[in-house]
Amino acid sequence: AAPDASLQEGWIVASHGRHDLMRTRSGETMHAHSRGKKSETVVGDRVLWRPTGDGAVIESVQPRSNLLYRQDLWRSKSFAANVDRLWIMVAVEPVFSESQLARALIAAQSADIAADILFNKSDLPGADAAHARLQPYADMGVAVHRLSLAQQPDAAKALLEPLLAGQRVLVLGPSGTGKSTLVNLLVPQAQAVTGEISQALNSGRHTTTHTRLFVPEGASAHPQDGWPVPALLDSPGFQEFGLQHVAPDALGGLMPDIARLSPDCRFLDCRHGHEPGCAVSAAVAAGRLSPRRLALYHEILNELVQGRQMRHGAE
Ligand code: GDP
Ligand code: ZN
Repeated sequence: AAPDASLQEGWIVASHGRHDLMRTRSGETMHAHSRGKKSETVVGDRVLWRPTGDGAVIESVQPRSNLLYRQDLWRSKSFAANVDRLWIMVAVEPVFSESQLARALIAAQSADIAADILFNKSDLPGADAAHARLQPYADMGVAVHRLSLAQQPDAAKALLEPLLAGQRVLVLGPSGTGKSTLVNLLVPQAQAVTGEISQALNSGRHTTTHTRLFVPEGASAHPQDGWPVPALLDSPGFQEFGLQHVAPDALGGLMPDIARLSPDCRFLDCRHGHEPGCAVSAAVAAGRLSPRRLALYHEILNELVQGRQMRHGAE
């Protein structure tokens, strides 16, 4: 078929149900609606749209390089697409949950994107002890960046800007760790944009629960897709990554320390429980793998197996 001349390209910068805000090729922000009953778009999507009387209707979503999910009961619900990198923000306080951190890394691994840990509030007492708790992740090859956004913003900026360059980076972490401080440091106009987005999507009600995409001043066109880079995605209402889209048998492969050991298990489909000849259990017994990591693997594995049962039962 001949290309449809009335279709134009857009980039979703915020989404609320079937209502989206979209950036056009000329850099304007426009309202857009999905065509079907359900919204199929998420922030970061590239779409084809057609103008209507007062906005735009989205005709199709272009193929995604990846999709990230949040937890939604026994399902995973997608919330962002086409992300190049994940910054997981933790801080000296609130004390971070190892389980949430590990899940975020598994989610990044399953989306095939790099993840860094941003360790903030390193000016507070207890910073060294909290930082030491991150050593197992550094050992797995995850970069851990020590920051004090409040006391050394310039140093943080100098460290992070080169990491952000040329990429679409999603910032996630528990509330109170300094995510807003980070976004405001890297995208000074973010607060104004947030206000506009909230107003546009909720007719005035202020809400900070949707994921938003910010483009810092001075961004330039990406060599492949032509959309601006860098960009920062922020997801304030975020609780936990969803992993229910992961097949139970794929889980071990997404945990680098376990994936490194499991080729030596006697059984190819070993689930590292009481199977004879399990190299993972042997590594725990020998003190070469933290029992916490194996316990976490089993905890998530059980959730994935149970999730499948729940979904099949409900269907
Ligand atoms: P968010 O909930 O993750 O967006 O966190 P905020 O950016 O709102 O920060 C939460 C609180 O932590 C605020 O009171 C900040 O001033 C404070 N904060 C942010 N960065 C630092 C830091 O480097 N050190 C200290 N001590 N406090 C910080
Ligand atoms: Zn095993």
